[in-house]
Amino acid sequence: MAYVDSLLSKCTCFSQLKQLQAHLITTGSFQFYTHRAKFLDFCAVSSAGDFHYAVHIFRNISSPYTNEWNGILRGIAQSNNPINALTFYVSMSRAPCKPDALTCSFTLKACARALARHETLQVHAHVIRFGFDADVLLRTTLIDAYSKCGDLGCAYQVFDEMCVRDIASWNALIAGLAQGNRPNDALLLFKKLRGGNMEPNEVTVLGVLSACSQLGANREAGIVHEYIKSKNLDRSVIVCNAVIDMYAKCGLAGRAYDVFNEMKCLRTRVTWNTMIMGFALYGDGEEALELFERMGQAGIEPDSVSYLAAICACNHAGMVEEGMKLFDDMDRCGVSKNVKHYGSMVDLLGRAGRLDEAFKIVQSMPTVPDVVLWQTLLGASKTYSNVEMAEIVSKKLVEMGSNHCGDFVLLSNVYAAQGRWHDVRRVREAMKGQDVKKVPGCSYIEVGGTIYKFMNGDQNHPRWKEIYWKLDEILLRIREYGYVPETNNVFHDIGPEEKENALCYHSEKLAVAFGLISTPDRTCISVNKNLRICGDCHVVIKLISKIYEREIIVRDRTRFHRFKGGACSCKEYW
Ligand code: ZN
Ligand code: ZN
Repeated sequence: MAYVDSLLSKCTCFSQLKQLQAHLITTGSFQFYTHRAKFLDFCAVSSAGDFHYAVHIFRNISSPYTNEWNGILRGIAQSNNPINALTFYVSMSRAPCKPDALTCSFTLKACARALARHETLQVHAHVIRFGFDADVLLRTTLIDAYSKCGDLGCAYQVFDEMCVRDIASWNALIAGLAQGNRPNDALLLFKKLRGGNMEPNEVTVLGVLSACSQLGANREAGIVHEYIKSKNLDRSVIVCNAVIDMYAKCGLAGRAYDVFNEMKCLRTRVTWNTMIMGFALYGDGEEALELFERMGQAGIEPDSVSYLAAICACNHAGMVEEGMKLFDDMDRCGVSKNVKHYGSMVDLLGRAGRLDEAFKIVQSMPTVPDVVLWQTLLGASKTYSNVEMAEIVSKKLVEMGSNHCGDFVLLSNVYAAQGRWHDVRRVREAMKGQDVKKVPGCSYIEVGGTIYKFMNGDQNHPRWKEIYWKLDEILLRIREYGYVPETNNVFHDIGPEEKENALCYHSEKLAVAFGLISTPDRTCISVNKNLRICGDCHVVIKLISKIYEREIIVRDRTRFHRFKGGACSCKEYW
């Protein structure tokens, strides 16, 4: 079965899938219903498949097994007409095979999408009749379906019935929510758990800690930690490690270090690594290296993760010599390097303008350097206006099939800075010729327990007009402080005004502006961005932190920026 799984996972288009089917038929594998069910499920659900084709195969099976029904059911539940899943479910109930917990789960998901409350009730009745009501995941789906259909009363009833069960039902639900991208709900559930007379254990708090880390929720982090201490759960080293990790990811390196120092249990290598990485994220290079040193003294050999954390710390603090030494030490101590170590080193040297050395490191790699590595080097070539290097690197990127918009923009900007307009035009033409993709930047902010997402130039938020007004006000006020838009990050051949507009509605600016209008004065604003923060946003947010007297934390793809009183904790290393 694993064999079919792995073949399926390699199919990227429908023609490949059909080839695979032909292969399965000729080898006789397609006679096994387990294989067929896998195939049907993939064909009905995945983007490489074709739902109608899956139905066509299904119709030709004389008496389909439960798994085969389920594959099609799942496809319908995800389709534009989820309500059809209910008709399908009814015909399945009349067939000789028996519905299982998955059948009910897919049907309930369809109910949730179709906002079919009445049908949810009916399937719920079946769940009880079939005896699946002890299945925690199914109950979670039930709760989800009821809440989506607007029947919170029933949702809580299902939940309350679960409360009579032991803590393992709770734990599964909290962990499920935290892993299922619903950290908010995980925290809410934990609140309810604390209100009751159930004793949360180690596993419970691990789920909750992971939820806090994902949200970067500072206040919740403190509450959860207090709770852990009050229950003496901090005697477990795994819990302590998770607490340190949570504080570090919430941008509270100081608190993380307190926990590290006050640990009652023996620190493991993971503990040390987590703490070193915590300092690295914060750009606290000195602290990170001191800890790295102490780790060795404490008799714990640093592994490749420890080295990576220490090199990252050097990178974020601009400590080039120290980073080089660590990188060389790795060979000496026989610690293996992976692409992340190389990437961090190239970044460090590139920022310091030591492009030739960075290039040598890329060449010394035993494996093929990845696109990200070359992009890092290209970025550094732009910063230091090194046309020669930019050309070499761009060529490599094109060879590797990169069609990322940013690469072209960077190269064209290197040329533009030198006034080589002919070359700028050439790059633009090449860009049009290819299918150039742009990774969209987006930022998240949590206000009042809800997480809001902003894209560049986004007007989807219900309060978008207020947000744009606020942004206009901000831009007006920061100009008094000498702000000039850093239009280098935009293409050179559009007018100066358009350039400014392209910049001023960046997602992180929108998120911060929304934070300003929707949270009380002087409270901290915390934003998560999927890409690196851009130079212009960095300048603007620094000024906002001063003029509006707000502490603003931006977690971008690589590190934390804590803006306060007009300065940033990164000291411009990012
Ligand atoms: Zn920006
Ligand atoms: Zn910064």
